Amino acid sequence: MQVNKLFLDGFRNYENFEASFSDRVNIIVGNNAQGKTNLLEAIYYLAAGRSFRAVKGDKELIAFHRDDAVLSAVVFSSGREQTLQAHLSRVRRRRLYANDVKLKSAAELSGRLTAVLFCPDDIDIIRGGPALRRRLLDGCLCQLRPRYATALAEYNRLLEHKTRVLRDYRDKPALLGTLEDFNQRLAETGAELIAVRAAYVNILSRIAARVHGEVSDGAETLTVSYKTVKTIENPHQKPAALIPRLLEHQKSHLRAELETGLCLSGPHKDDLEICIGGVPARAFASQGQARTAALSLKLAEREIHYEDRGEYPVLLLDDVLSELDEKRRNFVLNHIDKGQVFITCCSALDISAATGGRILRIEAGRLAETL
Ligand code: ATP
Ligand code: MG
Repeated sequence: MQVNKLFLDGFRNYENFEASFSDRVNIIVGNNAQGKTNLLEAIYYLAAGRSFRAVKGDKELIAFHRDDAVLSAVVFSSGREQTLQAHLSRVRRRRLYANDVKLKSAAELSGRLTAVLFCPDDIDIIRGGPALRRRLLDGCLCQLRPRYATALAEYNRLLEHKTRVLRDYRDKPALLGTLEDFNQRLAETGAELIAVRAAYVNILSRIAARVHGEVSDGAETLTVSYKTVKTIENPHQKPAALIPRLLEHQKSHLRAELETGLCLSGPHKDDLEICIGGVPARAFASQGQARTAALSLKLAEREIHYEDRGEYPVLLLDDVLSELDEKRRNFVLNHIDKGQVFITCCSALDISAATGGRILRIEAGRLAETL
């Protein structure tokens, strides 16, 4: 998969902007606040149908003095050239098009352009709470396994109902009668999630370990293991075999759930344990190690996507270089040797080690130079 051309008008600080890219490494260089991250954001938007950083929705993406914005890309995927477009407006609903045909929803963008993004906040995958690691896991699995996405949506729906029961049963005692049924269905759907997650983490662990070895030039070993409900000793079983274990765990937590009003049992509490050199990275990794580990996980995600679909997702690396030492930087610049890559950075020094790739210099939303 690759983005051959990009056109932006009224998007963030871009006006009437056009660029074409290398099908390998594109280095986006420029001072702070010139629009480097905005450029990656535009590509990500056309892949995912949403921004990775707009907190108040699409209107944030429209240039301050404009009422609408157009994002358009010529991409190559599934063996053909396709055009993807997004029209954003302050007054109308956003519209998405693929090959000039209007799409009914963002889901129809799926598979036309896939992007894996790595940004500075991703260090929280290593350092932050379990929710971020679950999100990483769910994000990959929902893209690759539509049935998983359905099961996850169902699980979350059931969980919401059960939470309401636990919250309101004191005022409406009749609600307690529904608890057993919710628990049964949560166990059934939860078992499906656990089986798929366990299998995926196995693959992720293997590939991330290899990638991390490469990025750190053999200096470090990375392991990823799946932590799920305590009563499950072996998550690599058929879902049917996991259900009794989940019911058992629910039972032992029933009192606590009724007392706290919280759902305490189930795979919505799952986590990944990430270790570097055998010790938990969350507590002990240095800044550069944590960043490298997060990057390894993202690169592994891209490999898995390739193994599954036969195409590498576009890789968007925002500000990845600054905290890495020379060896690791060298890896990022020169040894991610598959598929199309976009790397943003501030300083030409950062990229002096780059042996190939197209360099695009961005100044105030304009392409100042292409080398
Ligand atoms: P850094 O090196 O600091 O990460 P950057 O080149 O990645 O910088 P971006 O985040 O891409 O910078 O762009 C930031 C600039 O875009 C800011 O100056 C901001 O004012 C401008 N900007 C953001 N949103 C809009 C908008 N809706 N309309 C106009 N300009 C915007
Ligand atoms: Mg930036």
